[in-house]
Amino acid sequence: MMPSYRTIDALDAAGKRVLIRVDLNVPVQNGKVTDATRIMKTAPTIAELASRGAKVIVLSHFGRPKGARVPAMSLKPLTEPLSDALDGRHVTFADDCIGDTAARVVASLGDGDVALLENVRFHDGEEANDAGFARALATLGDAYVNDAFSAAHRAHASTARLASLLPSYAGRLMAAELQALERVLEKPERPLVAVVGGAKVSTKIELLGNLIGKVDTLVLGGGMANTFLLAQGRSVGKSLAEPDRADDARRILASAAARGVEVILPVDVVVAKEVTRGSEYKTLAAEKVPASWHIVDVGKQTIARMTDALATARTVFWNGPMGVFEIPSFAAGTRAMARLLAEKAQGGATVVVGGGDSAAAVHQLGLAETMTHISTGGGASLEFLEGRELPGVTVLLDRPAGVAANS
Ligand code: ADP
Ligand code: MG
Repeated sequence: MMPSYRTIDALDAAGKRVLIRVDLNVPVQNGKVTDATRIMKTAPTIAELASRGAKVIVLSHFGRPKGARVPAMSLKPLTEPLSDALDGRHVTFADDCIGDTAARVVASLGDGDVALLENVRFHDGEEANDAGFARALATLGDAYVNDAFSAAHRAHASTARLASLLPSYAGRLMAAELQALERVLEKPERPLVAVVGGAKVSTKIELLGNLIGKVDTLVLGGGMANTFLLAQGRSVGKSLAEPDRADDARRILASAAARGVEVILPVDVVVAKEVTRGSEYKTLAAEKVPASWHIVDVGKQTIARMTDALATARTVFWNGPMGVFEIPSFAAGTRAMARLLAEKAQGGATVVVGGGDSAAAVHQLGLAETMTHISTGGGASLEFLEGRELPGVTVLLDRPAGVAANS
């Protein structure tokens, strides 16, 4: 069983200075936020704390300034998008996240006011999980809330150390992310099916290794499946594949067989002369990939098999597209999977999607709201599903007195 963590339900927020760590590290182009999902998802926690009478002090990183003040990585341009996400609630920006500047802005806040402090990574103490830097942050608040699930796999000062210095709580987004992933990993309603695709096996070995011990069925697609085809003695032509990972693939297949886990691999594939828009392409049986062609998507028969394998599923976790979905001609498999899983979710199954590209595919099709949950934390959700402890979560756990958190 997962130990339980405190949520903001347990926080007496009124009149308190509440430091909240969120993830405002959103894509920005020419000064405009191109995907505000992370802001929209954390805004309700900020709004709730403000409505409950807290002085809300928002902390975040942005980019990788490596401990230096890099103007292009200032959080200042995020002040307005954050205010918009809070239905126009005023947000005061502070030019630094510690010291006099931050203290002055925090002191000016009334109950229900919101401040955004400058990029915590402008100080090298952040990524070093430095105690002194964390203490400097801690002086600004009476309580700490972590709503940055997507940064919870990092043991940094504002995600980990700070939690040991103040009463600390999980925000609504953090709690929702953990709850969704726990629904997959702990006592899931069965059958539990994992659908894993994407580019490379090498980035998913640990994920597959952990999932194989939990799932009833494993569905494999995308470039990753090519290495499994290789492991079965098939040739994959010029497809993206990792021959040096064929042994890992064989080990995963053997472990699945030993546990009675069904593995669904492509039986037909879309192959293309080049992995480019406008390239010639056709669908072939998986054992007939020509030497000079690339596998770019799963075929219709494979989708039919996958649909059968998912027919009775009550819980599904999906990570990684089924093909090179960025190119419309090679997106059919990924789109079919997204539609199928949306239908499953509508039929009452729990469907959790993790991974930046899979999430993007679901958003593109307008199916995001239909899924049970789409994780905002790429790396963090994968590490969680690999069975690893997330430092930013560990520090929020209720522990018996005298047991130190791990960082
Ligand atoms: P996620 O972000 O959902 O975890 P990944 O990052 O693992 O997914 O993989 C996404 C990438 O995998 C996409 O850019 C997609 O083009 C690529 N991909 C999927 N199938 C193939 C394939 N057959 N050959 C090459 N690349 C592929
Ligand atoms: Mg990705």
